[in-house]
Amino acid sequence: MEKVISYLDGNLEQSLDELKEILRIPSVAAKGEHMDEAAEWFAKHLEAIKMEVTLHKTSGQPVVTGYLDNGADKTLMFYDHYDVQPAEPFDLWDSPPFEPAIRDGRLYGRGVADNKGDAVSRIWAIKAFQDTSTDIPVNIKFIIEGEEEVGSPTLPEFVKKNSDFLKADGGIWEFGGAGIDGRQEAWLGLKGLLYVQLEVERLQMDAHSGYACILPSAPYRLVWALSSLKDVNGRILIDGFYDDLKGLTETEKDVIAKIDLHEDMTCDHYGITQFVNGLAGDGLKEAFYNAPTCNIAGLGSGWQGTGSKTVLPAKAMAKLDFRLVENMHPEDIREKLRAHLDRHGFTDVTIAWHDGYPPAKTPTDHPFVSFVNDANQKVFGHNLTIHVTSPGSGPLYLFKDHVPMVSIGVGDYDSRAHSPNESILIENYRLGMHRIAVLIDMMGAWQADA
Ligand SMILES: [Zn+2]
Repeated sequence: MEKVISYLDGNLEQSLDELKEILRIPSVAAKGEHMDEAAEWFAKHLEAIKMEVTLHKTSGQPVVTGYLDNGADKTLMFYDHYDVQPAEPFDLWDSPPFEPAIRDGRLYGRGVADNKGDAVSRIWAIKAFQDTSTDIPVNIKFIIEGEEEVGSPTLPEFVKKNSDFLKADGGIWEFGGAGIDGRQEAWLGLKGLLYVQLEVERLQMDAHSGYACILPSAPYRLVWALSSLKDVNGRILIDGFYDDLKGLTETEKDVIAKIDLHEDMTCDHYGITQFVNGLAGDGLKEAFYNAPTCNIAGLGSGWQGTGSKTVLPAKAMAKLDFRLVENMHPEDIREKLRAHLDRHGFTDVTIAWHDGYPPAKTPTDHPFVSFVNDANQKVFGHNLTIHVTSPGSGPLYLFKDHVPMVSIGVGDYDSRAHSPNESILIENYRLGMHRIAVLIDMMGAWQADA
């Protein structure tokens, strides 16, 4: 293993150069641009580590899979994605989002933390074994999709056709890294998601706002509808919204009791003095791990330029995301949302489109979780902070019946995924590669039931 580790350190520059290459491809899923280019880049690099590679056509973006069959007992899986979030607003970036730059030990670029940096670090960990003629004691599978940032709409189609490929003894999910206290974190679950676009159109055309005395207002209709969804205490008012909510299990509560969410540091990080509704202590933890949300992600209508324009807009639009926890289902919540709007007289507010998936978790007491912790111990010298679920979402539900997944990665608390100035700490990237290499090495001898 020493050879593998020193190879990774000796070739850090080369691996960063390769990472920069893929960061320059602006594969923004929401825009559907440069997707084939990014998929082919990963296909080429999986082939370079001797994997049997397939570029699966779907009705959406292609899914890239790689399989390294070493005839081993155990199989390790990686789930990654080659798509990224839109980089706008560009003017908030200190360097252009698709021109990777290094400053103060950090590598900046859209997608470096979410999740191209992770994907490339994993490829290099495998490459290190091969280039030093070190045996890889496990079989390895990669699934790299291109629609993670838009809700993985066609991944179910891929999974249906390739369910055998999903079988593995353990898997590493796409993201993770160091928490605000500098300790490495693992995320065992992902909340579900319902994303809707609400639209109201009340006039055939924008009107002179003097006519607001006699004409209906689309933005007001939308604002009233939105305010009917949540009260000022944050309680979501959609009828039946909380009906299927399940509390955390006793085992999960035990895990959470040991967690420190570093309330003061987190408040400082966001420039606030307290959390929403004064949440603190156990209540804050309960909300972080098990509260569903109703969030306005975007709002648009009328004049948004500088100065004034006295206009009565014909249309208004809002984008909402709901994070769903165990036992909640996006279709059910969408129906409840529709019924709520109708019951409150907002039949003119349409759900123009929607998307989503259910939540999923790997059980906290699964042996693979402690195995990943052991590998982390060897490299970082401390135990992982185990989060029973992330407050974010991902298509883990498609994998959960096939392979236990643990999410660890090369990001950190200040990685600003989805935001301007996304970056990773190069030191975390280096040690993240070590951790994957150690995990591969240890997995050959891992006894799941020991
Ligand atoms: Zn993301």
